[in-house]
Amino acid sequence: MTNLNLAASHDAFARAKQLMPGGVNSPARAFGAVGGEPVFIASAKGAQLFDIDGNAYLDYVGSWGPMILGHAYPPVVDAVRSAAVGGTSFGAPTVGENELASLIIECVPSVERVRLVNSGTEATMSALRLARGFTGRPLVVKFAGNYHGHVDSLLVAAGSAAATLGAPNSPGVTPRAAADTLVLPYNDPAALVAVFAEHGPQIAAVIFEPVCGNMGVVVPTKEFRDALATQTKQHGALLICDEVMTGFRLSLGGAQQLLGITPDLTTLGKIVGGGLPVGAYGGRSDVMAHVLPEGKVFQAGTLSGNPLATAAGATTLRTLRDEPPYARLDALGEQLQTGLDQAATAVGLPHHVARVGSMVTLFFVDEEVTSWDVAARCDTALFAKYFWAMLRRGVYLPCSQYEALFISAAHTESDIQRTIDAARESLAEVA
Ligand code: PLP
Repeated sequence: MTNLNLAASHDAFARAKQLMPGGVNSPARAFGAVGGEPVFIASAKGAQLFDIDGNAYLDYVGSWGPMILGHAYPPVVDAVRSAAVGGTSFGAPTVGENELASLIIECVPSVERVRLVNSGTEATMSALRLARGFTGRPLVVKFAGNYHGHVDSLLVAAGSAAATLGAPNSPGVTPRAAADTLVLPYNDPAALVAVFAEHGPQIAAVIFEPVCGNMGVVVPTKEFRDALATQTKQHGALLICDEVMTGFRLSLGGAQQLLGITPDLTTLGKIVGGGLPVGAYGGRSDVMAHVLPEGKVFQAGTLSGNPLATAAGATTLRTLRDEPPYARLDALGEQLQTGLDQAATAVGLPHHVARVGSMVTLFFVDEEVTSWDVAARCDTALFAKYFWAMLRRGVYLPCSQYEALFISAAHTESDIQRTIDAARESLAEVA
């Protein structure tokens, strides 16, 4: 397999490293976990990325989740263009905010009212503050390997790039900030019961990924989901479903609709902005009534509800509602899962392919991954070789074992077949 020409990316990265820590504005982008230099992207269309050296890739990162309709989806581009002509930010209410908020409430079953923010991190940070303000309690329960953005108190045993790059507990998070976070293993109902038995009256909320994507794809068991519902209810704590990744991806109503979960609060990001910076948190009307100016829990944002972002988000959600891609995405996901499984089996590599809908992870470990303890046993060195072998064959995967790959509505059956063919060759090369 010939090497890619990445000369222009190499030069751009050299310059970027002088300008920005690690040469990037978000750590996972630096390809550090797979030992190399990142590819600089010039443009994207549909399921394809084009780098500044002129190489084309089939994209399974999709901006880490948002691009479910594919890149530069024409109605989204048109909506952003016409919004920009009318002014890019007013700091005053707009009808566009009503449109996006009403679409979120229409699509996500448990959301009665919602607040728009600018990122998933802002959404989870605000939801925690609201849960604490509403209950008057200090503690929050989270699960090892789940990632909820770079909120201080949630950078404790965090997944995603924090885990991949060796900083699940970031320096700079004070012991006091971390002390209000109780960390449990995912998929361990007994641990949840025990923590509530010990700390119940002090626990404001449990936050969790309803299908985890940030240690690779990990599915919550029915027993775990039931324990989350009953323990929070029984002890008067709020259940916060972090659907930043899964919202509008696993179904129009997210993982909660797919799995029959009814949280008190939901956090959203990624797809809700259609590729522009939007996050949202919402849920029970009586809880949301505690947000200022109705209540006293403070949360604000100069650019929250920005007209370009709401136009992109509303156009994306309307498209997903009116032309749901979910059955097709599921079929493409199944095709990829089966193909990857057969390819890894053919070369005798220990593996497990996890999937829910259009989120897929090929784990290099020979058992089902149910928690971070199992995920941590994956052969990450093998993953790094596989990543580069795929990139050389024109397939752009997330640059870490501990991520989900995302299929978009722009991918075709032949794209998936091409990916499986590339995986067969790559796995034979690295086995
Ligand atoms: N929550 C989950 C489940 C996520 O996957 C992410 C980002 O990957 C976040 C929160 C943080 O979102 P953002 O990167 O927009 O701040």
